[in-house]
Amino acid sequence: MSTFALSRRQMLATAGAGIAGAVAARVAGPDAAFAEAPAKAAVLVNPPAFYNFKHGDVQVTLVSDGVLGLGDGRKLIKEATTEELTQRLEAAFLPADNMVLQQNIPVLKIGGKTIIVDTGTGSSTMFGDTTGRLPANLKAAGIDPASIDLIALSHCHPDHCGGMIDAGGKLVFPNAQVSVNESDFKFWTDEAQLSGEIKPFIEFARARLLPYKDKMTFHKGGQEIAPGLQAIDAPGHTVGHTMFMVTSSAKPLAITVDCAHHHILFVEKPKIEFGYDTDSKQAVATRLKVWDMLATDRIPFITYHFPWPGLGNLAKAGDAYRYYQTPVSL
Ligand SMILES: [Zn+2]
Repeated sequence: MSTFALSRRQMLATAGAGIAGAVAARVAGPDAAFAEAPAKAAVLVNPPAFYNFKHGDVQVTLVSDGVLGLGDGRKLIKEATTEELTQRLEAAFLPADNMVLQQNIPVLKIGGKTIIVDTGTGSSTMFGDTTGRLPANLKAAGIDPASIDLIALSHCHPDHCGGMIDAGGKLVFPNAQVSVNESDFKFWTDEAQLSGEIKPFIEFARARLLPYKDKMTFHKGGQEIAPGLQAIDAPGHTVGHTMFMVTSSAKPLAITVDCAHHHILFVEKPKIEFGYDTDSKQAVATRLKVWDMLATDRIPFITYHFPWPGLGNLAKAGDAYRYYQTPVSL
């Protein structure tokens, strides 16, 4: 039926007319407020982002703190040439010189407790103005920060502990205990390190963690930090970096946090090293163990920096891996 045999050129022409028509209607139409809005308002802000799902009897809400723009992420990666990184990113339809990471924050209702894993960057603009959305998005998800019983902190980097206090220094989670690895806490709050390149990170962590000092407990790998939630040592990214495992249901659910920062590069080439790792060789050793476990045992996992909402599975692919994002469902 020739009626349906539109050529590609015809389709483009039709689409072009449609867009042009829509723009003309917008400019000339009754939406004068839109047309006259100040330039700043023309930057469209994405709506609140949260995603609910059940894992066994555990209610999980993934809440976005917004996105982190790292610029040319190739400069932060070791043990791979720029050419190879460019090729892998472009093959995945991603810009080579503009790496954008998510901040996917799990809130778990588990064993009668409400637990948040990490807190985003908070009011800090260390990573620009596209972060710090957690409070608004928690509200949109119907989660009162005062209802959080425990902050399970994976490590003490700014994009994970930043949201513990507000711009005025008040506790964002007034009723929460904090569970963190002791070595990590000591490293990032160590007064002796208040000099050199690391100084801003130490100051940042001290300002957010010390107000919770009386409500803090230190977890160790293998320990249940709450009924059905286990801490697992995953060092390298930082000295005491911790991942978590939901163990209360028949099938586990892993929360791998910062074992990897990119869903293509650290999956297709898991031995590459990341510039923000305290010990990048140890981080690779950890990543290889974690990836092997997730793929072998087919364990679904939540990742802090992978594409929103950060839930997926990993499969072996040759001598590396492939990431399968779980489709969002109703
Ligand atoms: Zn991070």
